[in-house]
Amino acid sequence: MSFEKMGLSRELVRATKACGFEAPMPVQEAVIPHALLGKDIAASARTGSGKTASFVLPMLQRIQSSDKKVRAGKARALILAPTRELAMQIAAEIEKFGKFISPSVVTVVGGEAYGPQIKKLQRGVDIIVATPGRLIDLLKQRKVDLSDVSIFVMDEADRLLSMGFLDEVMTISSKLPDKAQKLLFSATLQGSVDKVIRNILKEPIRITL
Ligand code: AMP
Repeated sequence: MSFEKMGLSRELVRATKACGFEAPMPVQEAVIPHALLGKDIAASARTGSGKTASFVLPMLQRIQSSDKKVRAGKARALILAPTRELAMQIAAEIEKFGKFISPSVVTVVGGEAYGPQIKKLQRGVDIIVATPGRLIDLLKQRKVDLSDVSIFVMDEADRLLSMGFLDEVMTISSKLPDKAQKLLFSATLQGSVDKVIRNILKEPIRITL
């Protein structure tokens, strides 16, 4: 299998080459084709498996191919991560894979000034990479509007839940359009993660590697 054959756009294939990737990793091979078809997906994948590219590449392709432009105050895609460090790493990967697409990205994380985050949100962005606390905060202040989000990713869902973010995850997902595509990544798909999958995802494809 190759990135081309999976149906990724020329700009995204070029970006994988620029990153030095020769072939997709197993999680990418399993996730990307379904994700490009718009399916909801729950995948068990660990850090180091290449899971970030498996959701960032389809997300970028959706942004690239959608006719809908960024609207002031709105975002077109959302990634939720348990920690600020992970959110920053994901934003850095988006930068690499988005090299030939140049999406607008804002990291909505704690421990940083509100001003610059709010300013970017008010202009409208392609992608928000957020931790739950700060995102809920800005939702309450009505500084962020998720009604244009067409793809939503929960990364490390097991950690989101073990850190006590279940209510935040449910609140955030309730603000998304019903038809938004939803992808969930987690070390395990059992227990409380399974409950979230059943509650939030629609007829998900389950991928365990
Ligand atoms: P992740 O599990 O997403 O944190 O990725 C782990 C590391 O693998 C990162 O440094 C990626 O840049 C790298 N990586 C992801 N996909 C590939 C690939 N197809 N070929 C080579 N390296 C990759």
